[in-house]
Amino acid sequence: MHFSRFPRRHYAHLPTPLEPLPRLSAALGGPALWIKRDDCTGLAGGGNKTRKLEFLMGDALAQGADCVITQGATQSNHVRQAAAACAREGLPCHLLLEDRTGFTDPDYRDNGNVLMDRVLGATLEERPAGTDMDAAMAEVAARLTAEGRTPYVIPGGGSNRVGALGYANAALELLQQANDRGLRIDRLVHATGSAGTQAGLVAGLVAANSGIPVLGVGVRAPAPVQHAKVLELARATSDYLGARTAIEDDDVQVNCDYIGEGYGIPTAGAIEAIRLLAELEGIFLDPVYSAKGMAGLIDLIRRGHYGADEQIVFLHTGGAQALYGYRRFFEGADRAKP
Ligand SMILES: *Cc1c(COP(=O)(O)O)cnc(C)c1O
Repeated sequence: MHFSRFPRRHYAHLPTPLEPLPRLSAALGGPALWIKRDDCTGLAGGGNKTRKLEFLMGDALAQGADCVITQGATQSNHVRQAAAACAREGLPCHLLLEDRTGFTDPDYRDNGNVLMDRVLGATLEERPAGTDMDAAMAEVAARLTAEGRTPYVIPGGGSNRVGALGYANAALELLQQANDRGLRIDRLVHATGSAGTQAGLVAGLVAANSGIPVLGVGVRAPAPVQHAKVLELARATSDYLGARTAIEDDDVQVNCDYIGEGYGIPTAGAIEAIRLLAELEGIFLDPVYSAKGMAGLIDLIRRGHYGADEQIVFLHTGGAQALYGYRRFFEGADRAKP
């Protein structure tokens, strides 16, 4: 795959590390677990959106944009990384935040990613839960255009075929690391939301004929919806790349059993996953995405879905900055321990 054909800016510290998780693997007594550290991509705290933004901002600049509009939930990691990419390019960044959880505590509303968005100099506007955010961005784009600006609209999560290129590229990076160290990867697991990460990974891994299945653990939509969304975008990304191998239905695997009450609302499994990764490996997961993804992986291991001889890579998509917005879910946790 020839990524240099696409406009790209460089923000990420690559390759991100691929590390073993020996203490977590031992504690679970199942397969050998590895972690791909895309929480360490380096742009204003890092995370998976950085890889997508390299191609999205490349496209924005190629199109002559002079400002950027994007959207996400209040504690969106995508929005933070977009604000940082805009700062790097000197482009004004207009952010729409959807109040998806209804949480009213000051940590959630003003700390964590929201604090960082402000420090990065972005303009923030709030929208109530259930707003058609694409329509809301189109309205802002019309307003800015009428003022003589040239806005570039990045979809939520940076998930379109341009952003997903970042994860097709990450698939090749991971294969290279695995091949260099003789690591046979039996499976890749990560949290899936706006679908661009999984779509790009599937497009890249299928085109490379890797034989590595990817499981996306859903954080928002029901499984049939999520599957269709990832599949459609994986195919669009594959076409955009000019790949010749068709993407089949079962190249996309999703499990949406770990969402709990809804997007952005932590589950007991997610809180446990955060504590386990922190206490056993010194790694912070985030309460909205990576902890639900890891909670799914942990539960499937405990239920015996994977053999002890398997080697599984968990893609850490970042987001620990949101922990500051979820402080109340951890208060007294130290005292609650037996
Ligand atoms: C956005 C995000 C995801 C989900 O990635 P998508 O490409 O939107 O599916 C996972 N983890 C974190 C921390 C994120 O911010």
